[in-house]
Amino acid sequence: MSRLVLKFGGTSVANIERIRNVARHIDREWKAGHDVAVVVSAMAGKTNELVGWCDEASRLCDRREYDAVVASGEQVTAGLLAIVLQEMHIPARSWQGWQVPIFTSHEHGFGRIQHIESAAIIKGFAERREVAVITGFQGLHEETARIVTLGRGGSDTSAVAVAAGIGADRCDIYTDVDGVYTTDPRIVPKARRLDRIAFEEMLEMASLGAKVLQVRSVELAMVHKVKTFVRSSFDDPDNSNQGTLICDEEDIVESQVVTGIAFSRDEAQITLRRVADRPGIAAAIFMPLADANINVDMIVQVASEDSGVTDLTFTVSAADFARAQKILTDAKQQIGFRTLQGASDVVKISVIGVGMRSHAGVAARAFKALAEKGINIRAITTSEIKFSVLIEAAYTELAVRTLHTLYGLDNA
Ligand code: ADP
Ligand code: ASP
Ligand code: MG
Repeated sequence: MSRLVLKFGGTSVANIERIRNVARHIDREWKAGHDVAVVVSAMAGKTNELVGWCDEASRLCDRREYDAVVASGEQVTAGLLAIVLQEMHIPARSWQGWQVPIFTSHEHGFGRIQHIESAAIIKGFAERREVAVITGFQGLHEETARIVTLGRGGSDTSAVAVAAGIGADRCDIYTDVDGVYTTDPRIVPKARRLDRIAFEEMLEMASLGAKVLQVRSVELAMVHKVKTFVRSSFDDPDNSNQGTLICDEEDIVESQVVTGIAFSRDEAQITLRRVADRPGIAAAIFMPLADANINVDMIVQVASEDSGVTDLTFTVSAADFARAQKILTDAKQQIGFRTLQGASDVVKISVIGVGMRSHAGVAARAFKALAEKGINIRAITTSEIKFSVLIEAAYTELAVRTLHTLYGLDNA
């Protein structure tokens, strides 16, 4: 018999009927004799509502109280699911993060799981065959005894961490699609479900915008070698076996050059015109941004014809856009530039695949295909297994679909 972690996302537990359906998936695994720990998200829309209330109460609310509020959504789902399981005569109890405990770092709103005390949960398996229903997205900072949340989408990370903590044989991430697709199936109907995807590729997909898994959950799965399977809670509980296994590169037999395409609208572009082209200029621009904890992503520098000046374009996340513009405008004299132009109607499209390591010209084909559609590329970055282009947001779907077809990813 195995030990399993089953994670259910917000849409999967959106109402009592869906919670009953989730319970049928649990019932199947439990009846097969497995030890089962379940990790749940808040009901769909709940976390957004809670975040909205905090914003309404105060634009700059105390992050410790923000966490106290937003962590409450998962508590409701865990309790409701335990009630439904008990109704079905399956021994079950709910566990909040602090009860397990799941210990985290102190960063409120984006904590990291440091350690999980798994003894009580394992004792429940051994003595009562009890299903542990654990709240995702939250943990406890031991020194301050405060609740800390893990960042949006953090229940995925809770699930993988619990799987590592209790030594689970597999972590099943149940969501509203039946696996990881070549791109977001809601944008490209021809997207194909992947049977397998390598950890490195999934890591890039997640960090470049595919929100099906939180980035941190993929990192944890990779480090702790947690066998992670993405599947649908909407499949018939009595006949459910389809999904995507996140695995080592060596375990993929038929590998393609390009595995998937991700996109992120959470981008903003800043261009500084006529910047003095002298040593130290990049540091003068990027140090103040780094000091303010603003991450800069793509950077393009263009030398103007007129010697001695240059144009510099870079991207920051949409959330940092206003702050970055203010910092640079305040430092205009020290940096020495003519004008600052900003744009937030941009999207970053990324093409990912471990096959790029051994194939030349993969990106060049994309540039040509986008040009043929009249799509202008504003910035480019490349690395070993991916490249990204920044384009106008209005072209998102056209660009993703064009590249999806170009690399032979369309479903026949
Ligand atoms: P949950 O609430 O279960 O955590 P999420 O909404 O966080 O679910 O993630 C699932 C969603 O991720 C899907 O509905 C889908 O629209 C989106 N998504 C984006 N990229 C992909 C992809 N490559 N494969 C599958 N789903 C993706
Ligand atoms: N409920 C949290 C969120 O909406 C965590 C999660 O669903 O993974 O971000
Ligand atoms: Mg999610």
